[in-house]
Amino acid sequence: MAVKEILLLGNSILRQQCSPVRFPLPEEMRSVIADLRDTLAEFRSNHGFGRGIAAPQVGTTQQIIYIDFEYVGALINPKIVRRSRKKFRLWDDCFSFPDILAYVQRNYDIEVSFQNEEGRRTHLKASGALSELLQHEIDHLSGILAIDRAIDSKHIILRSEYEKLAHKPQIAL
Ligand SMILES: [Zn+2]
Repeated sequence: MAVKEILLLGNSILRQQCSPVRFPLPEEMRSVIADLRDTLAEFRSNHGFGRGIAAPQVGTTQQIIYIDFEYVGALINPKIVRRSRKKFRLWDDCFSFPDILAYVQRNYDIEVSFQNEEGRRTHLKASGALSELLQHEIDHLSGILAIDRAIDSKHIILRSEYEKLAHKPQIAL
């Protein structure tokens, strides 16, 4: 098990454009996938939330994300190939700034094309929670963070304030 340190907001690696992974998959990329799986599991057991992680969050600027929610496994070189016109809004968080929430707008349905560890290209259709998760993680591969997707700057808040205000209508929708 290799749990990695998660890079935090302000670290310039999180802002880099990640490079495509080449096939056959190098051994070091298999280790990165194992590290992503283990780091996600550890974060979830410590914080009680966490469904996905992206390679730059553990310091690797290659196009790999790892999901453990509805779909389990690594998505290599993922691309969103279709987006629904229908959108929805939600409070989003991130391992790289666990104390901040941003109110973002995402496409409700998407279709993602990606490669598995053998290099075979596969398509995944996602709706709702899995769709927004994939949009969040794929954004990381372009150096884009959830705070960049906030509907405006007033909708970036501390988790402690969110928890105080969550029941109030002005913060709901
Ligand atoms: Zn994130």
